[in-house]
Amino acid sequence: MKINVVESVLKANDAVARENRRRLDAAGVVAVNLMSAPGSGKTLLLEKTIPALAAARCAVLVGDLQTTRDAERLAGIAAQVTQINTGTGCHLTATQVGEGLDSLDLRSIDFLFIENVGNMVCPAAFDLGEHRRAVLLSVPEGDDKVAKYPTLFQPADVILLTKVDLLGVLDYQRSKVYQDLSRINTRAPRIEVSSTTGQGLDRWFAWLKDQRRAQVSDS
Ligand code: MG
Ligand code: ZN
Repeated sequence: MKINVVESVLKANDAVARENRRRLDAAGVVAVNLMSAPGSGKTLLLEKTIPALAAARCAVLVGDLQTTRDAERLAGIAAQVTQINTGTGCHLTATQVGEGLDSLDLRSIDFLFIENVGNMVCPAAFDLGEHRRAVLLSVPEGDDKVAKYPTLFQPADVILLTKVDLLGVLDYQRSKVYQDLSRINTRAPRIEVSSTTGQGLDRWFAWLKDQRRAQVSDS
């Protein structure tokens, strides 16, 4: 019985997600859902990314349990920022994102970034209506996380290895991460970045622009 309940929750979520995607498509917006553990650098990456893409054409939906700290950091950077406080909820749902979309002027943007709640488990189960999933994994988290949380990495469209400026500092084997990824996701490009030094950011920006071009020509 419990399984049926969970399934119907996800089914209802997926229906709302499809409607979110339809609204984004109609407005010509490409939506990227950023997922990772807390502290792997999602907000900082957005702080570097949005000015590089043209801040006026970017909006962010920020999911957090409490506080508006991340939204405040981004408010001076992106043209439109909406905070979604999930209370005790450890992931964003399509309904919350749909309400977030109501608060945005979708016609005036090209990119919507959805910063999910920092959590490596359930956000992966909830389609939000995004077009692409970007999963971040930071060097300080350790080189065993891909094997431990495969459900997060399996559906990723791009995988960002963040904080690579710490590679020489910490005991970390990049090859282990890539070996684990080769078993579960060979489709997603892997981009090594450091928001501190700027390493690899150009590749990430280029990937985002490619997704926008692909999505506009699709719809
Ligand atoms: Mg954040
Ligand atoms: Zn959750």
